[in-house]
Amino acid sequence: MELADCGSPERLLSVILDHHPAWRPPVDIEAFGLTVGILEYRDLEVEGFVGALMTDIDKTKGVILSAAGLSVPRRRFTVGHELGHYLIGAHRGDKRCTSRDMLENRRETWHQKEEAQANRFAAGLLMPKPWFVAQMDELGSPDIRHLRAIASTYLVSIEAAANRYIELSCESCAFVFLRNGKVRYSRPSRSFPSLSIRPGDPAPSDCLVGANFEMAWSETDATDWLRTERQGRLPSVRMQRLDQADGFQTVLLLVDEVEEDQIDEEVSLEERYKPRFRY
Ligand SMILES: [Zn+2]
Repeated sequence: MELADCGSPERLLSVILDHHPAWRPPVDIEAFGLTVGILEYRDLEVEGFVGALMTDIDKTKGVILSAAGLSVPRRRFTVGHELGHYLIGAHRGDKRCTSRDMLENRRETWHQKEEAQANRFAAGLLMPKPWFVAQMDELGSPDIRHLRAIASTYLVSIEAAANRYIELSCESCAFVFLRNGKVRYSRPSRSFPSLSIRPGDPAPSDCLVGANFEMAWSETDATDWLRTERQGRLPSVRMQRLDQADGFQTVLLLVDEVEEDQIDEEVSLEERYKPRFRY
């Protein structure tokens, strides 16, 4: 198996998963690393970085470092990310990565593109698509409580589970990650309307702890979250909130698609029966 020739993270992941049909979640990511040339896992003692990779010139052997004291889920994601840098042929063999790099999904600069690829690799190795999609189908419509089940199945953080969920979901939903009442970042699914909230913005008041029952669905004011198009009607949006330790919160936003379909139908009926005048 010449993994370095596989190019994209997705191609690499499909070769690895085909090669390991007996794997079941949670994937033993460190054991896998040892089979592809990682010699050891060490603590990283450099301020400001959560993960690092050191390899020989040809990237045939390597050492992965992760910040001491990371939780098991974060450590697993960090190891997956560094393994991505190690196995994706085009990436350099010496890397130091920040916690911001572990969230990167933009592709505007070379650096962003490589970090985003390493993240796609980590997410795809820890939460392989076929297993993940099957579990999503089993769980049914989006619900923030599912994140705990997914996180424990794959031994990943709530945040990593939410990011993977959004990537693979066909529903019109978004996760917004908050800390101490401010937006950290958001991840919308492909069909979700354009969000207006930006990192650093204060969170809408219904996200405050105690504003409504944690994890219960509530209606939320779409204008707090979505960009208002001129003359456009905003869909109705429901939300659920999950409060975590140290001021972290995750919010799930969901467009009520049944209601949206009914409104669309009414609008098109109205259009059809509107009297037409000739001038
Ligand atoms: Zn990196």
